[in-house]
Amino acid sequence: MAQETRTFELDKIRNIGIIAHIDAGKTTTTERILYFTGRTYKIGNVDEGNTVMDWMQQERERGITITSAATACHWRDYRINIIDTPGHVDFTAEVERSLRVLDGGVVVFDGVAGVEAQSETVWRQANRYGVPRICFINKMDRTGADFYRCLKMIEDRLKARHIPVVIPIGSGPEGFSGIIDVITGKAYSHDGEQNVNEMVEIAMPESEKERYAAARHQMIEKLAELDDEVMCAYLDGKEIPEADIRAGLRRVTLSNKGIPVLCGSSFRQRGVKLLLDAVVNYLPSPMDTPPVVGIEPKSQSEVNRAVSDEAPFSALAFKVVSDPFVGRLVYLRIYSGTVDAGAGVMNTTRDQKERIGRLLVMHANAREEITKADTGSIIASLGLKNTFTGDTLCDPAHPVLLENIKFPEPVVSIS
Ligand code: GDP
Repeated sequence: MAQETRTFELDKIRNIGIIAHIDAGKTTTTERILYFTGRTYKIGNVDEGNTVMDWMQQERERGITITSAATACHWRDYRINIIDTPGHVDFTAEVERSLRVLDGGVVVFDGVAGVEAQSETVWRQANRYGVPRICFINKMDRTGADFYRCLKMIEDRLKARHIPVVIPIGSGPEGFSGIIDVITGKAYSHDGEQNVNEMVEIAMPESEKERYAAARHQMIEKLAELDDEVMCAYLDGKEIPEADIRAGLRRVTLSNKGIPVLCGSSFRQRGVKLLLDAVVNYLPSPMDTPPVVGIEPKSQSEVNRAVSDEAPFSALAFKVVSDPFVGRLVYLRIYSGTVDAGAGVMNTTRDQKERIGRLLVMHANAREEITKADTGSIIASLGLKNTFTGDTLCDPAHPVLLENIKFPEPVVSIS
């Protein structure tokens, strides 16, 4: 049978978690992301009236809240699935489960508090799963915010190679007046006239030129140290094109050798938009992750499932919730193959046949019903009666058990 076209090509999917110490601004940042992305995308299959414009009116009335375990949104021509990660370290098992299903993370820090003990614990958990990350140093407008101190903490406490790609212009309530994109050299400043939340492009302030030049130089040097291709271009002594810098940053992020760092305030637009650009530019797509490894239940032998629509279906249930409107919803991450609404599947964890009911993509403002879900997607299914968090669902003709995947030995937390 001819392969149907996918709604989003695999390389245009980002399954990410926003990871933060409580109070660092995870909720505000996520809501801003959903707000900006919701403004630019009209959901295809929902009933008339469920458009993003309606949602904006609702948003004004009651504010947006993320109630879903995974929320789909759209930036440029990418689909970003934001997987909810618990903010509190007490839910370590839940953090682990969510880290298991996401491909990349945005770690939000409070620009005043910097790296806190809980962030260290979550960082180490993310290391265990090899989750590529970018950092957002938030709240640059607060008294005591210090971008460079935060960078030092990332280096000292998290032992990570930071690569600042956005730097602040000033900090604190009086001083924080904008941000500079280190790759493009564009400076943005707060536009108090038109919209308190917008930051518009300005000429680079004289006072910032030296700081910017130093940041750019350091970025290229660090990239050259960590990436052979950038090193070759660097040694040639020519100006490295922006696209090559971004490609180098992507390779370095995916291999966990370096961490792009951005900053700003989640109250102001430009910083959050640059963060969205960084998510699609540097964080992995499902294609960048290795094939999932599981166990064939009868023979107990190890099997691989290619990250492809052509491979047999396999998925992990990572959250089960009771939705007041639609009933029991099972959130699934599809690792390989595709599944149709109404399909018979095998729950290998419970050695039971199951039937998928309706398939839904959860948006911030709507549930979008789909008839088929592809590799790499995050969806919610109705109708699964005996599937619980952590269970594997798969093609009955090709059984596999994903939960038996062996993880590396835990890293001992130093906190
Ligand atoms: P979470 O616990 O990480 O989800 O944090 P929230 O998003 O709930 O934010 C915690 C507090 O910090 C709230 O009072 C927010 O209004 C505030 N906050 C979030 N982002 C910023 C920011 O960029 N600047 C300032 N000054 N406050 C912020």
